[in-house]
Amino acid sequence: MKDYNDIELVIKSRIPLIVIESHEEIRVVDMLRQIAINIGKPVFKWSITEGLERIDRKMAPQKHNSEPTDVLGHIKAVKNPGLYILTDFHPYLDEPVHVRLLKDIAIAYEQTAHTIVLVSHQIKIPAELAKFSAHTQLALPTKDHLDRMVRDVAREWAEENRGQSVKTDPKTLGMLVNNLSGLTIRDAKRLARNAVYDDGAITQSDLPNITKAKYNLLSQDGVLSFEYDTARFSDIGGFIKLKRWLTERRDVFYGKKEVQHLDTPKGVMLLGVQGCGKSLAAKAVAGTWGVPLLRLDFGTLYNKFHGETERNLRESLKTAEAMMPCVLWIDEIEKGIGTSDSDGGTSRRVLGTLLTWMAEKKSAVFIVATANDIEALPPELVRKGRFDEIFFVDLPDERVRETIFSIHLKNRDLDPQKYDVKKLSTAAKGFSGAEIEQAVVSAYYSAHAQDAELAMMHLLDEIRQTRPLSIVMAEKIDYLRNWAADRTVPCD
Ligand code: ATP
Repeated sequence: MKDYNDIELVIKSRIPLIVIESHEEIRVVDMLRQIAINIGKPVFKWSITEGLERIDRKMAPQKHNSEPTDVLGHIKAVKNPGLYILTDFHPYLDEPVHVRLLKDIAIAYEQTAHTIVLVSHQIKIPAELAKFSAHTQLALPTKDHLDRMVRDVAREWAEENRGQSVKTDPKTLGMLVNNLSGLTIRDAKRLARNAVYDDGAITQSDLPNITKAKYNLLSQDGVLSFEYDTARFSDIGGFIKLKRWLTERRDVFYGKKEVQHLDTPKGVMLLGVQGCGKSLAAKAVAGTWGVPLLRLDFGTLYNKFHGETERNLRESLKTAEAMMPCVLWIDEIEKGIGTSDSDGGTSRRVLGTLLTWMAEKKSAVFIVATANDIEALPPELVRKGRFDEIFFVDLPDERVRETIFSIHLKNRDLDPQKYDVKKLSTAAKGFSGAEIEQAVVSAYYSAHAQDAELAMMHLLDEIRQTRPLSIVMAEKIDYLRNWAADRTVPCD
């Protein structure tokens, strides 16, 4: 109803050119038809395939007006007021003659009172027409609306199945409605039908499929990817402070009533030494909070969409908002928003877009940005208040190394109790988590080659043969530590 009122108001405000960006053409056309009937204007719909058709009264399509130039010429010549819906006209807006014809029609509004409504999934209005036009988008359905729709779907199923009722519980139903938010009513209904019609029940097992299907509907450009592979806190050794910090904020992130007075967490930056678990930690936030993990790939954003980088970033952020609650992992953030101006200012504008979004964001999209290279990090990004916290991820200490050995032995179905992890940890001084994992993997291979069980000897051999990054890159790591000392908090 809100959309109906808003669009009616725009039409009544005597704006000659209205732009509606929507994938829901049928719904928009139907709404416009009702509005036109209500205000007593004849209403016509045009498409390149069907030509011009009057839709408030049944008349045959006028095929001769199917060419874009002809239809605009026709509208310009008609003296009686009318509402003209042009569907998918966007490719023809590049033609100067169409721009001029639209402008002629707009200028003549006082005499003819024609309203032209352009309806497409995406419309870029030429500057010459901007002054005559209003841009509007359909609001997405509210939670109440979605809840009613899901109940209607359940009722339909019951009617078709001899009055049996759909099996569900209020919590799962609520979660389904949450998962559907951000979609148009048509798409949401299709997913709800899929969930109900396969087995007559809405269960927890439907939810991951809905989340994935929703992601596929929302994101078609490959900049944002849905990460199926998440982790748990128990998969990470160390990160004690980060784990505590996240646990304390979980309820607020979920918007629980009892903690409504606390600020919604925005996100964290994890900065530090390579291979020490930053990516793993990003995955674990999503896994532990039980929300989808979306990964924003800045590299693709730049390469694939040259010239459209900011628009694509905005689209990706919009998709992330539609997926909320979710974790948005921006991997190697410094790569996308470097400090140099060599790219014609694109990376500066991308940084601006990101910072504005972060500052204004109210949604439950929790950002985890990871970075290695402090040189490339713009100071604006690490200034206090941008992220809730910047955590420094250092090489694991002796105790944490023990845990990491245990985790990676367990991951390979080996019993850590059978190994002297303390001794392994001492031997692996200066190793990153990734290097510890690699030592376990290689030692296991050696044991296998000897047809033997993995023994301490294999592990210690591997450790001895490794020259860890902390030695190879000692200076760089020292520099990183110094930089981090008064700008970040340690993870452990
Ligand atoms: P980079 O900066 O190079 O991307 P990173 O800090 O993101 O590295 P990860 O990719 O998370 O590091 O680490 C690589 C792998 O090393 C992980 O998938 C995990 O198996 C192991 N690892 C690293 N740190 C830890 C840790 N603290 N606990 C358990 N495993 C770890």
